[in-house]
Amino acid sequence: MQGLMMNMPLLISSVMEHAERHHPHVEIVSRRTEGDIHRTTYGEVAKRTKKLANTLTNLGVQQGENIATLAWNGYRHVEIYYAVSGMGAVVHTLNPRLFPEQLVYIINHAKDTMVFFDSTFAPLIKAIAPACPTVKRWVQMCDEAAMPSEPAVAGCLNYEALIKDAADHYVWPQLDENAASGLCYTSGTTGNPKGALYSHRSTVLHAMAACTPDALGLSSRDTILPVVPMFHVNAWGIPYIALMTGAKMVMPGGALDGASIYELLESEKVNFSAGVPTVWLGLLNHVQQNGLKFNYFNRTVIGGSAAPAAMIKTLNSLGVEVIHAWGMTELSPLGTVCRLKAQHLDLSLEEKQNIMQKQGTAIFGVDMKIVSDDGEELPWDGEAFGDLLVRGHWVIDSYFGGEGAKAFTTDKDGKKWFATGDVSKINREGFMQITDRSKDVIKSGGEWISSIDLENVAMAHPAVHEAAVISVYHPKWDERPLLVVVRKPGVEVSKQELLDFYEGKVAKYCLPNDVAFVDELPHTATGKIQKLKLREQFKDYKLP
Ligand code: ADP
Repeated sequence: MQGLMMNMPLLISSVMEHAERHHPHVEIVSRRTEGDIHRTTYGEVAKRTKKLANTLTNLGVQQGENIATLAWNGYRHVEIYYAVSGMGAVVHTLNPRLFPEQLVYIINHAKDTMVFFDSTFAPLIKAIAPACPTVKRWVQMCDEAAMPSEPAVAGCLNYEALIKDAADHYVWPQLDENAASGLCYTSGTTGNPKGALYSHRSTVLHAMAACTPDALGLSSRDTILPVVPMFHVNAWGIPYIALMTGAKMVMPGGALDGASIYELLESEKVNFSAGVPTVWLGLLNHVQQNGLKFNYFNRTVIGGSAAPAAMIKTLNSLGVEVIHAWGMTELSPLGTVCRLKAQHLDLSLEEKQNIMQKQGTAIFGVDMKIVSDDGEELPWDGEAFGDLLVRGHWVIDSYFGGEGAKAFTTDKDGKKWFATGDVSKINREGFMQITDRSKDVIKSGGEWISSIDLENVAMAHPAVHEAAVISVYHPKWDERPLLVVVRKPGVEVSKQELLDFYEGKVAKYCLPNDVAFVDELPHTATGKIQKLKLREQFKDYKLP
């Protein structure tokens, strides 16, 4: 017997419809490439989204067609998200920090037919356009008056001119909730980037789960500034969560330096933000160097790379609660979130901060397990570590185009799992802790050493701005850890002082063998330390 409840598909357009009807006056504030701070509301954005959906229909865009964006966080990007997915096409977010050749590969692989881009990226568009034969239309996202006299590409359209005269009445089609809605490629540190193709259902369920109290805990009382870009796994779902909950959204555009972010946090009374650890390094430097404080900002989610203990402590001391989360492009991205449970509330601040270094517990909708090399499940004892496998409503089932099939396995109970490529352990309370990405793990004479643990210690040293630990060849142990450090500007510290700092903090066999000082560390397109490049840089390094 079937239940007798309305069967409404979980559609992205229903999120926009909800915001339009129930949160029409909530603001979305954007720092624009035109140079100003722009203010609008979800009600206005909903109208413009329908104008854009009509425009796309009139241009002949078909359901299932991939439409790309190369854009910062801003209200127009939000309109494109909803108009494209809402009408049944697929919004494909491109990461402008990728190399032009990678962008060309991705656009051709996805067969994108249209690209919307921010003015900042006009030179990039000019460079790649000739190599993108599937793209029929290029649209620059700026005011008509801000269009350059010399277009990036011949026949380039203007966003505002395009939607200006379109009707603002549009009935969103009742699509299959499993239809594709969004496409996002992993940054492909090894091999070509691979695409994760999200569905309406996975996106809506992910957003619903992400705003629950033990996940990001978001509501209409929050003002959210996503520093994490909309081209990095849909800004971790925030553009959907904000419209679903009625939270105000503050979009930083391309100004992601500490001073610009601080200014918006204060002027817009932002209390919640989200970003990778590197962006918080910039913000914290700015705040500390100028003796500033946060008057409204009190919660942030940090993910993408491990949040260093020192960063958690500094943010806490500035009155900001850290929500450490783990996820991946292939998980839409949220997998685990670190939130204290009832039994932790009476612990000391230090004990709580120790828990916060872990990547957290699985939220409903995601299951996880750790397995040995032969696929056997390992115990949750906080000691055993192995490959982390996940499954769930917003976990990838296969890559776009069928690549990467090796990442999927089916266990003896018939359950399908996705191998994350991370190595981790899980404690009795279900808190997962990442040791390393499997390709970054250091194997010293049969023992595994966690580079994340060693980086955490270095980051707590007052002279260290950023640190990475990589394996380098050792004739006896095969691999040994090398600590690579960027010092804070104008601060001196010796190799020995840094090595001494590890005393009593890690087991003796884990101690880095040496320290190398560099001016800067290489970062990936999503702001993570690029260990592969660093290992290449130090491949002939002779340990003492
Ligand atoms: P890319 O590497 O292409 O940028 P993702 O942004 O999807 O792709 O990266 C996912 C990976 O980032 C995870 O598999 C994990 O290695 C790492 N990661 C994400 N969050 C954390 C975290 N909180 N702690 C440690 N590693 C993390």
